[in-house]
Amino acid sequence: MPSSNEPGVFAPDAKQDYGDDPNSVRNTEHYKNEYVRGFVDKWDELIDWDARAESEGRFFIDVLKARGKKSVLDVSTGTGFHSVQLLKAGFDVTSVDGSAEMLAKAFKNAMDQDLMLKTVHADWRWLNKDVHGKYDAIICLGNSFTHLFEEDDRRRALAEFYAALKHDGILILDQRNYDRILDDGFSTKHKYYYCGDKVSAEPEYVDDSLARFKYSFPDGSDYHLNMFPIRKDYVRGLLRDVGFRKLHTYGDFMEEGEEKAPDFFVHVAEKS
Ligand code: SAM
Repeated sequence: MPSSNEPGVFAPDAKQDYGDDPNSVRNTEHYKNEYVRGFVDKWDELIDWDARAESEGRFFIDVLKARGKKSVLDVSTGTGFHSVQLLKAGFDVTSVDGSAEMLAKAFKNAMDQDLMLKTVHADWRWLNKDVHGKYDAIICLGNSFTHLFEEDDRRRALAEFYAALKHDGILILDQRNYDRILDDGFSTKHKYYYCGDKVSAEPEYVDDSLARFKYSFPDGSDYHLNMFPIRKDYVRGLLRDVGFRKLHTYGDFMEEGEEKAPDFFVHVAEKS
């Protein structure tokens, strides 16, 4: 089990704290304080593993298998959904997260299915300090990359991902379609990632450097995440800048263009 040196966050009754002016909280470090125990316990209600497995189908498994990949580093493990799916499909998975609270939940979720996760508590910006060895593939899913507020942090994290991959490794990174949210406002008819039936996930405030989402649960509780709205082509540019040579972007698990206004983009970036 991971241990934590995050004061206050690893307590059962820890509360999210955005201070008096929540829209001013725009920093990369804050994610550790957002995933408090109450929110982490509710995360699986939000994503509903069965519904999510059905909507994603074999997409990630097929992308990995088509390229002959076996060892996978899940850098945004969260509560373990993708780590568990990939373990079940026979991949050799290592599960990383910067939130000890999330990793502990993932470990328990896997144990409940008689699976043992290999967990590493690490921040992406210093990934290779804690993660040793080279992987066939890295996955960074569930709109996680958007937690990075500074361009330097994004470049640094991608460089760390690049370095942890074998010479022909691939990175699979997804993001919300922030272009649509920034340009047209938020609306969705889809439910690809956040599949829980009675849970709503909606932006409460959006500008060029903040998307503050509110997650409301049936018991009346609500939680927030402050994220940086990254545009699709900007992320593609960053992936190229750090050295990925082949880049393919899907919209809601389909070839771009098939789905006119996808909720999510998935970038598959290959080193060679
Ligand atoms: N992938 C999971 C899913 O789809 O359900 C979790 C997604 S959750 C939105 C984002 C995850 O990324 C959290 O578990 C958070 O702790 C982790 N994270 C965010 N910033 C990070 C960083 N700089 N280093 C390591 N983990 C980070």
